[in-house]
Amino acid sequence: MGGMGGMGGQGNPFGGGGGGMGDLFDQFFGGGGGGQQNGPRQGQDLRTRMSISLEAAYEGITREFTVTRPEACPDCDGDGHPPDADAQTCPECNGQGQTTRVQQTPLGRVQQRQTCPRCEGDGTLYSETCSTCGGNGRVQREATLQVDVPAGIRDGQTLRMSSEGAPGENGGRKGDLLIEVGIDSHPDFERDGDDLHYDAAVSFPKAVFGASIEIPTLDGPVEMDIDSGTQSGERFRLKGKGMPRLRGRGSGDMYVTVQVVTPTDLDSEQREALEQFAEAGGEEVEVEEGFFEKIKRSF
Ligand SMILES: [Zn+2]
Ligand SMILES: [Zn+2]
Repeated sequence: MGGMGGMGGQGNPFGGGGGGMGDLFDQFFGGGGGGQQNGPRQGQDLRTRMSISLEAAYEGITREFTVTRPEACPDCDGDGHPPDADAQTCPECNGQGQTTRVQQTPLGRVQQRQTCPRCEGDGTLYSETCSTCGGNGRVQREATLQVDVPAGIRDGQTLRMSSEGAPGENGGRKGDLLIEVGIDSHPDFERDGDDLHYDAAVSFPKAVFGASIEIPTLDGPVEMDIDSGTQSGERFRLKGKGMPRLRGRGSGDMYVTVQVVTPTDLDSEQREALEQFAEAGGEEVEVEEGFFEKIKRSF
């Protein structure tokens, strides 16, 4: 299992290795004295994505996944040539791996060093090329890995698996594998940081008289009391029933918003009761003749 070394998106997507102003500087002014081309270079960081459920983000999960990545060619050990191939010092650069080019510029004559085009910086030529990798020393392979996704991870956060990226060159260490974790939306809960939001449907009588209602949480259902006279849109807090805090103690909260349900499909008894309710409050309601009345009248 790969270790997880830290989180966050601060990985360099362009990987280690050469490039940058330093090299340019060296090229123009002849610094470095050559030989750098043969030095160890760290492999590139690679990126992949995975998505998990909110439940998995709540619990934390060990997830197996596959990734296609460059690996050192198994047939030549990453050298690009068979072990028994004849080696010859590159005549172009005399084994230096770099050649010097003299250029006329407005500033005068400038010596510019470049990677030897013939041996590609290797300094050595080989009689044979590895047929498996075509000489570049690496092949694309599908690897199956496991990563520990910590409880409380948020959508879009990145896990870093150390040394699971591209192989280094000339003995350099491997790059890292960066995994961006997406969290699927949930049918019941809306997440806001470490808090969760839930809309609870409450019947009209329960909202009027108050009740204990069952609320689903990621930790199983809990009972919640709503006061008599609760209005639609009123919000209750269930402390500690949100998401666990990543690498911290405790959890966020769950916010429950009550949605009072207007009754539909009333039977005649319910209809009469509501009519009486309205009349008792001095309200005049126009009641359309319902299904049951129609049936009753037809007898
Ligand atoms: Zn050469
Ligand atoms: Zn090979």
